[in-house]
Amino acid sequence: MMGPEVPKNHPRYESLITREKLIEGMHQKIVAEAGLIAHGRGEAFDYILGEVTPAFALNQEKLAVITLLMAKDPVISVNGNVAVLCSREIVQLSQILNAPLEINLFYRRPEREIAINDVLTKAGAQQIYGIDPRNLESIPEISHQRRIVDSRGIARSDCVFVPLEDGDRAMALRNLGKDVIAVDLNPLSRTSLAATVSITNNITRAITEMVNFAKKFSKMNIQELEKEKEQFNNETLLQEALKFMSSRLEELASDQIYS
Ligand code: ATP
Ligand code: MG
Repeated sequence: MMGPEVPKNHPRYESLITREKLIEGMHQKIVAEAGLIAHGRGEAFDYILGEVTPAFALNQEKLAVITLLMAKDPVISVNGNVAVLCSREIVQLSQILNAPLEINLFYRRPEREIAINDVLTKAGAQQIYGIDPRNLESIPEISHQRRIVDSRGIARSDCVFVPLEDGDRAMALRNLGKDVIAVDLNPLSRTSLAATVSITNNITRAITEMVNFAKKFSKMNIQELEKEKEQFNNETLLQEALKFMSSRLEELASDQIYS
């Protein structure tokens, strides 16, 4: 079902391959239709970043990894886009951080849950929360099926890593007293604003970089982690993200890219 082949020398090869993967993932019922639209929203901001990881985002990723390592019961929430774009890396991160994976969908459908479960299992996941009905419960803060969480995972967790999450759910998790770590290219989304730690970067780059930070930081003791953590502040980093985007736009505007 892959579309027309993307030539390797295409200047936007990576981005086009990513789109192909998501479309294919949608046909395989892994990705929700709305997942394609969400990706497009993210891409628009990635153009402004220049489709590379800026320095401030590396610091956001460090802060995120340290926060997850210091948590008592960290959990990583996985949706269709995450499964298609970075299943191997998210499984690796889960193992290094000792944080279980939980399938947690905005558009919950059994066939999608099974498909994501397969992708994660193929990527090496040992245990996946969020699908065994005997372990599911509701969090009252959110309406409909979106409130269903695993009693062994998100329900009891103090720190939830939710790449590509919706704003309402991010806020509901915060209201339950949990730390929320988000990856969202839009620094103005409600998710980015609600999260304890926001990572303003493309998930395709962010998770790989987080795996590397996790390898390094997981060797540190709690005092060393505390010391590292003191260097970073989520609000300041989010402000840096907006300043970076705005100065990139200014630079591009004076670069006469349109002449
Ligand atoms: P919110 O509900 O947080 O105000 P929203 O309704 O615009 O935001 P959602 O669909 O709820 O968006 O969340 C998806 C978010 O994921 C979007 O803000 C989008 O920018 C972001 N996103 C999509 N694809 C990627 C990606 N590959 N990397 C990083 N962020 C992405
Ligand atoms: Mg939303």
